[in-house]
Amino acid sequence: DNAPSSHFIRARIDEDCAKQTYGTKVATRFPPEPNGFLHFGHAKSIFLNFGLADDYRVQCPQSACNLRFDDTNPIKEEAEYVDAIREDVAWLGFDPASRVFYASDYFERLYRCAELLIQAGLAYVDSQNAEQLRSTRGTLTEAGQNSPFRDRSTEENIQLFRAMRAGEFADGTHILRAKIDMASPNMNMRDPAIYRIRHAHHHRTGDAWCIYPMYDFAHCVSDAIEGITHSLCTLEFTDHRPLYDWFLARLAELGEFTPPLPQQIEFSRLNLTYVVLSKRKLIQLVTGGHVDGWDDPRLPTLKGARRRGFTPAGFKLFAERIGVSKSDSLIDYSVLEDCMREDLNEHAERRVAVLDPVKLVLTNYPEGQTEICHAPNHPQHPEWGKRDISLSRELWIEREDFMIDPPKKFFRLKPDGEVRLRYGYIIKCTGYDADENGHVTCVYAEYDPDTKSGTPGSETRKVKGNIHWLSCHDAVEAEVRIYDRLFSVAAPGARRPDDPEDMERDFLDDINPDAKRIQIGMIEPSLATCAPESRFQWERNGYFVADQHDHNPTKPVFNRTVTLRDSWTA
Ligand code: ATP
Ligand code: MG
Ligand code: MG
Repeated sequence: DNAPSSHFIRARIDEDCAKQTYGTKVATRFPPEPNGFLHFGHAKSIFLNFGLADDYRVQCPQSACNLRFDDTNPIKEEAEYVDAIREDVAWLGFDPASRVFYASDYFERLYRCAELLIQAGLAYVDSQNAEQLRSTRGTLTEAGQNSPFRDRSTEENIQLFRAMRAGEFADGTHILRAKIDMASPNMNMRDPAIYRIRHAHHHRTGDAWCIYPMYDFAHCVSDAIEGITHSLCTLEFTDHRPLYDWFLARLAELGEFTPPLPQQIEFSRLNLTYVVLSKRKLIQLVTGGHVDGWDDPRLPTLKGARRRGFTPAGFKLFAERIGVSKSDSLIDYSVLEDCMREDLNEHAERRVAVLDPVKLVLTNYPEGQTEICHAPNHPQHPEWGKRDISLSRELWIEREDFMIDPPKKFFRLKPDGEVRLRYGYIIKCTGYDADENGHVTCVYAEYDPDTKSGTPGSETRKVKGNIHWLSCHDAVEAEVRIYDRLFSVAAPGARRPDDPEDMERDFLDDINPDAKRIQIGMIEPSLATCAPESRFQWERNGYFVADQHDHNPTKPVFNRTVTLRDSWTA
């Protein structure tokens, strides 16, 4: 079923297409502010915006999605983030190519729009200080008060605004405000700020400007400049929509834009259990040293996801599965993990690794002899072929696959018990060595030469257990980073009224101390030479990826992406 799932935004676009509101195009944009790294929430917005443009191109050939850097706030923005965001969007599979824009490229046009509003008596320079602005805004139940500067003449406003631009005033001494209605029940309509003074260096425009437009003004004007038809944003902007429409309607009346004008449509943001998606909290995790940088595989950033071994196709599946709605919802983290498992199960080749090795000696296997066993690269894709795994007298097996004194239903190796070595022979345990603490140091077994997998008659004798192994003579040592969920509770930092320390609780208190463990394991020789970011299912152990930065043939490093099955929900 490749048909895109329907949702209310599609219904709106379908209507516009039917009525030819915007002719033959559906134009969306993804507008990140370059003040941080993209996270899983942004992935939802990316698939929505770029996905819609791709889908509608069939019926509306001019459809496109812009990548627009919403870089109107010079204080927190950096070029480093711009590059990182472009990389992440490309990684998810979208190439905006010639459709990369910067709101800062519109500074001159935005300024002109502001002067137009002043000329039309729709904006004024307010010289109240921050405290006065706050105290005259009113409350939800009480109207605000008009500024004493509200009735400045057009000439005075223009002159002051030009002086603001020329750098004649200090930060915070004046702002440009829209003249709307200080008694509006919608706080956003109470003469909102359009421009403020900020003597700050901008990562693209340098020191050309010392006044910067506010988000509500810059965003709708940028949409109109780019010819966006459907401007999708998250629900908290619902109350800003009247202002979005007001700016564009006024500027259209003044001849600056020609209808049809873009329309803002709100959808619910992604909330996920077991992670935090707020930029502020992510910054705290990184700067506080709780994780190893922005691409730590435990972080819900796209950089972290990539290093973790999550896949773009898995995110796409996730975006489709969670859908788009108008009501806030909390998605269980296991939904995301299941999407990654589904994609990896389908596309990742199988390999063998022994994460916690203990030696197994086949006492009746000739010393110095080796032989080839054939392991399929993918059980559902015979066309992907098989690879050779060499068997010898000394093998590595998983420590947990042998128990001296196991419980009843233990079907792996135990004294006098039998198991099949995957793709190899049936073996029978004949003994073991253990140190004074009972710690097993070596297991002994005899193999049955008539039972090799894939040879005639080999399947006539059945055993319940089937364990994986590697040969000591060619297995390669690897660093294996076992990652798990970053937080040990679904709602990090949530209050617990029955806990006496409730008032003190902080999301950092809920960090899962076992979210990263490092093990030295043994891997198939071919895994050592694979390219960084190669993804595999390690049989019986989960999905693993060769680390993007640290993996190399002389020092293989793998990260656990996700377990084979969900171990968090009972
Ligand atoms: P902040 O306000 O902390 O800067 P932001 O979420 O607004 O964070 P932006 O870079 O401005 O970050 O977001 C770019 C786009 O991604 C916006 O259109 C926003 O609606 C969308 N987006 C951000 N977080 C989510 C989320 N959790 N779910 C869905 N969309 C999101
Ligand atoms: Mg932002
Ligand atoms: Mg934002």
